Amino acid sequence: MNKVKQFTKKGKVADYIPALSLANPADVAVSIYDGTNTCFSEGNHNQLFTLQSISKVLTLALALMDHGEEVVFSKVGMEPTGDPFNSISKLESQIPSKPLNPMINAGALAVTSLIKGSSNEEKLSRLLDFVRELSGNRSIQFNKEVAQSEFETADLNRALSYFMKQHGVISGDVDELLDLYTKQCAIEVNCEDLAKIGYALAHQGEHPNDKYSIIPSEIARLVKTFMVTCGMYNASGEFAIRVGIPAKSGVSGGVVGAVPGNIGIGIYGPALDDKGNSIAGMKLLELLSSRYQLSIF
Ligand code: GLU
Repeated sequence: MNKVKQFTKKGKVADYIPALSLANPADVAVSIYDGTNTCFSEGNHNQLFTLQSISKVLTLALALMDHGEEVVFSKVGMEPTGDPFNSISKLESQIPSKPLNPMINAGALAVTSLIKGSSNEEKLSRLLDFVRELSGNRSIQFNKEVAQSEFETADLNRALSYFMKQHGVISGDVDELLDLYTKQCAIEVNCEDLAKIGYALAHQGEHPNDKYSIIPSEIARLVKTFMVTCGMYNASGEFAIRVGIPAKSGVSGGVVGAVPGNIGIGIYGPALDDKGNSIAGMKLLELLSSRYQLSIF
């Protein structure tokens, strides 16, 4: 941990969602879960933070469980993109104009629009129950201030949604979709919760303690593959080479890692590098991977 703490000084906390700018850039924490009921943790592993883009992995799994591959991938593609996570440019050049993958914002919004439920309350409550089950933590909630702060400033995500609505990728009310999406991004966890979610994904979607199946293994495999190809923004290629662990990060500084058949890793470090990944978290994962030979390649 001491080896990576210094890197936090070189990073910057995300501030385009005003509430995220309140995070302490010097924070770094890690939890590792191997299925034996307690996590190995270092740093302030009780610190709560919001999932942000890590939620994209979970909504993808839920939408696939709700509708199956054919429906989901008629709305969103499977290819990585070299563009920023909130870019609109590829949407226009694609025919049909479906988003390239579910890990960029356009794709995640399309996926969120597929979650089943008769109201946003029901959809959010299904998603929260899913996250609680995967982490074994019944007390997980979403942070209302962070959700509101993002909802008020999410004009780019609104623009992406209106564009997709015009082109028939999504239907329904855009602000309702934004309401659900910003609450999904504001689901609050700590490093231990993330490590257990990583463990569940690493173990074919099994409950982290009780080992029954939550996510069908084929969907867990598919989700992990997206984590490898596009989980770490535009650093996914370099991350695959240097670390080689299926992982997904978010602008709050969280990272979930799922070493197939092995451990789950949860990291928090809100100081981000220029690609939007936790700067200390990336270093920590690199060190862990080389020390314990965790690369899947
Ligand atoms: N809620 C954030 C957004 O849509 C998530 C971004 C991220 O973590 O990459 O801008």
